[in-house]
Amino acid sequence: MKAVLELYQTERQVIGNGIMLDANEHYKQWVKVPGSALTGLNRYPDNSAIALRQKLAECYCGDGIQTENILITSGSIEAIDVLIAAYKPSALILNTPSYDVYKLRADAHGCSCELIPLDSSSQPQADRIIEKAKEGSMVVFISPNNPTGKLMDPALVRRVIKNSQGMVIIDEAYIEFAGLQNSMQSLAKEYPNVIILRTFSKAWGLAGIRLGYIISNEDNIRHLTPYRNAYSVNAVALTVGLHALDQQDELKIQVERILDHKSDLIYRFEHAGIAVHRTEANFIVLDIPDVHTVHQALRQKSILVRPRPLLGNLRQGLRITVGSPDENRAMFNAVLEALA
Ligand code: PMP
Repeated sequence: MKAVLELYQTERQVIGNGIMLDANEHYKQWVKVPGSALTGLNRYPDNSAIALRQKLAECYCGDGIQTENILITSGSIEAIDVLIAAYKPSALILNTPSYDVYKLRADAHGCSCELIPLDSSSQPQADRIIEKAKEGSMVVFISPNNPTGKLMDPALVRRVIKNSQGMVIIDEAYIEFAGLQNSMQSLAKEYPNVIILRTFSKAWGLAGIRLGYIISNEDNIRHLTPYRNAYSVNAVALTVGLHALDQQDELKIQVERILDHKSDLIYRFEHAGIAVHRTEANFIVLDIPDVHTVHQALRQKSILVRPRPLLGNLRQGLRITVGSPDENRAMFNAVLEALA
């Protein structure tokens, strides 16, 4: 096990609050929750989260997914821990560049990581993954991926699932932006070794309440459940989640709005001669020569963005969450000024 564990670093720990385009959240809390809904907080929350699981199954998940196929977690980050604790993988196989937390949590659990670079089309190298995916390993796909922003080709994912002797995780934190028709959740019913992760932190705009869920077959959900800490999902999160699911028409409107703001940003950057990597998520990645300088210039103005590795992992791009029109304008002007 690593002697000193690396901390999960956020921009906010370094420069405090400002224009926060660093964590791929929604720029506002759009889900409406009547204050009167937050009652009964003297009681522990329902540890089985039955009402939320039922509602997710009925009105949001589809593909024959039922209450028994869902485990509610305190954000996807708790789900990652639960998966590593429950399956004790011999190695986590990550398609890089990838979301940092997988490696950090693997280190914390004393689990090694195999890093396999995505190919030049941002797709997994299925044969190389299969070669490494021995019994007891755990393969992680993120679709759309963070930070490349691309959906994983379902044919390649299926090939890995069929030929892997361990579990295969598909993290769909950003799936609402790509469209739920691109979800691979049906694979969780089809194969015994598939786990889907979802969250309310991105399109639903509820990162602050820490709410996510796992979709898998009944046996896997039964196996995973005791590894989640008792009451880890609090009563406020459960209540707000239920209210959110009643606002699905608004979810569509909010997603469309973010996608419009994203198109607008891409148009403006490209017309200014700045290369942008397009994504299927709520962020863009600028491909600029001196990422460090621009990052520092934005920090000076309290505009928070994050340098993230580009494909190939050798160079960095600047990952920028799509914010409100005002935030986007301020960020755009600051980037142009820094590059002038
Ligand atoms: N998975 C991916 C791919 C992410 O990018 C993030 C957040 N940046 C998470 C999971 C964590 O989500 P949550 O807030 O649900 O813990």
